[in-house]
Amino acid sequence: MAGPLLVVNSGSSSLKLALFKDDLETPVVSALAERLGTREARAVLKDAARTTIPLPEQAGHHAAVEALVSTLHRLEWLPNAPRGIGHRVVHGGERFKASARIDASVAADIEACAALAPLHNPANLEGIHLLQTLFPNTPQVAVFDTAFHQTLPEHAYLYALPREWYERCGVRRYGFHGTSHLYILQQTAKRLGKPPEETSLISAHLGNGCSVAAIANGRSRDTSMGFTPLEGLVMGTRSGDIDPGLFDLFRREGLQSDQITALLNHQSGLLGLSGLSNDMRTLVEAERDGHTGAKVAIGVFCFRLARYIGAMMSSLEQLDALVFTGGIGENSPEVRKRTLSHLKLLGFDVDETSNADHGHQRAGAIHTGGSRRILVIPTNEESIIARDTQYFLDSDNRHS
Ligand code: AMP
Repeated sequence: MAGPLLVVNSGSSSLKLALFKDDLETPVVSALAERLGTREARAVLKDAARTTIPLPEQAGHHAAVEALVSTLHRLEWLPNAPRGIGHRVVHGGERFKASARIDASVAADIEACAALAPLHNPANLEGIHLLQTLFPNTPQVAVFDTAFHQTLPEHAYLYALPREWYERCGVRRYGFHGTSHLYILQQTAKRLGKPPEETSLISAHLGNGCSVAAIANGRSRDTSMGFTPLEGLVMGTRSGDIDPGLFDLFRREGLQSDQITALLNHQSGLLGLSGLSNDMRTLVEAERDGHTGAKVAIGVFCFRLARYIGAMMSSLEQLDALVFTGGIGENSPEVRKRTLSHLKLLGFDVDETSNADHGHQRAGAIHTGGSRRILVIPTNEESIIARDTQYFLDSDNRHS
């Protein structure tokens, strides 16, 4: 019997593996290794027992892949080689407008895109090479975070910089979270009984990283992240938009460029504003206990989000739904309510009872009778990766 599908999400310091059998919506099991390369490196199998997976001290990606795969093998989740392996790859530049079967030339192109995502693509490539060594006969597929946004029109993707920056260095807006926004499009279309290519929505992916996308008739037309995943909304530790004029001040204050990068990526956002945490759940609880920083952080987060949702309307001719997803979007009635309170003029009105009811990863509608449609839909990026991988396996079979 053909083995399961293996989905690999290799981040800069983490690694997630998920195994799918016939149902490509829900993995049969997944495993997560975190804080790789540090003394706190740890891994856990997300089975009923939440089995801890022993890792060598300061395990990096290599050791983590070996430990996770051998645990899956030992516990018979992965008795043979997988039938296919799908990788999340962060940056596909302008080269990848869809997922791709990995061969030497695709791997070289992913490497070339590393100039655009120096923190992410090398980790993704390392995962690809490691799995190739472990399972040399298994087809591998790359699924890109940027690919879904390759339909952005020029007026949405160009920065107002001298054009040579685009032509010489590829400086433009790429957008990220593409697999999540695509999944939300498909689920929204299914819910509304419409073909995806006739469905228009604003998708708000709110997790540790946050982005919104305007999707018109199934195609991404605008999104809040740009050349990197730093642009746009307030995020867990990322600032989102700031005035680029601030760079002068940062330098005058003595910050070097890597310190500015750390400031904007790791010390800002909800964490920087609240002085407490990057975790929305913690902040919502702290606000209830009267923590002023938490209140301010949530206020800025929700206002910036509402402002971007308003901005996304200019890319659409009609709107079937505004959809909330991601850890915060799926779980926080407070954030949804506060965001929507800024959007009454645009026709959004939240129903308090159903909003509170859909606080725990349950899909559903949260608008009142007279409002535009507002939905909560849990995202599932792994399912898109599994389906794209299966697509390539099926087309191999058709051609063999
Ligand atoms: P993700 O990156 O999609 O896993 O989302 C992580 C974010 O979701 C963190 O900020 C969590 O605090 C937030 N989150 C998860 N559950 C809740 C909840 N019940 N209420 C508010 N935020 C939540």
